[in-house]
Amino acid sequence: MEILHAKYPFLSSAKESVADSGFDLISTIQTNKPTVNRALERILCAIEEGSIGPEHRNTTVELLSYPLARILVSLVNEPGLTHRYSWAESQTAMSHFKNDIEDDTKLKSISPARLSLKTLLDELQVTKNIVQHGDTFSISVETYLSFISYLPDASWKLVFQALSQGNINVEESELYKLLGVGIFRQIKSDLPLKVPKEAEKLLQTQLKSIHSYIDEIDLEPELGPVSIDFFPPCMAHLLQRIESNERLNPPSLFSLTSFLISTQTNPQETLDYLTNNSFHPSLIQSTMDYLQDKDGAPLYPPPSCATMQAYGDCVNMDEICQTISHPLQYSSKKHS
Ligand code: SF4
Repeated sequence: MEILHAKYPFLSSAKESVADSGFDLISTIQTNKPTVNRALERILCAIEEGSIGPEHRNTTVELLSYPLARILVSLVNEPGLTHRYSWAESQTAMSHFKNDIEDDTKLKSISPARLSLKTLLDELQVTKNIVQHGDTFSISVETYLSFISYLPDASWKLVFQALSQGNINVEESELYKLLGVGIFRQIKSDLPLKVPKEAEKLLQTQLKSIHSYIDEIDLEPELGPVSIDFFPPCMAHLLQRIESNERLNPPSLFSLTSFLISTQTNPQETLDYLTNNSFHPSLIQSTMDYLQDKDGAPLYPPPSCATMQAYGDCVNMDEICQTISHPLQYSSKKHS
């Protein structure tokens, strides 16, 4: 079994390698304890840490634990777990990929144990839609839109991108985030798998262990609209003020409302939330009408940090604030 496949078990060539090895699900569960343990570890670490835990020193165990982990996730069949597990696998693969690209550049050599950008693009079937121009990459709008649906930061929204002949230009680091979503979608796409009854019977101990973890926590997908936990301090403060029924002055209300329109996907929920928490529903409705088009897309982004400071609304700055110039950049910095 190749190291490359253990690092990137979602690749078609890795699946072929597992099939060629004569992998048998039932006998693996019955006789290969290290693989079963590593499969369980992948899932428990995904739940707890958002990663799949340290690689096993044995390449075969590492690779075979991937299909077994997918079997376990399929048996639990909880959308939140499937999402969180697939995300953890994709982020680990992307971290390997960034190291591989760095090593290729540093060592000026291509090793079969390292994944190339071309192979990854081929695997995700986007080779024709992503073209490199020096340090930047041009992505077709369709591919871009299909990837960003899982990215929480509003700065990815199309309204904030410059379109050039049906393409969007992104930097290398942005491309890697988008490809991470591509891997995530690929890993998640065929879950849950159909699992033989016999395997389910043999995996009862592992299933109990997973349930004991997930029954304790909220497994709602973490991606999607920006959660309030990831709001920048200025917006969290404005939200608190509005929830205390304080009447915000027009610039502050503009800032908060435009931030919510830019980061939350459901305009009606945003409106309901604000009006339910304020004595001034008509003012909020008219501000929202002004800031979004009829489909709820933002017409104006929220003000920059410099403007927020000028309004006196830049409060409770933290370490992340030292590294950004716009409140919309806050959540992705906090996620990274
Ligand atoms: S630095 Fe920017 S993001 Fe941070 S609190 Fe001030 S305005 Fe908000």
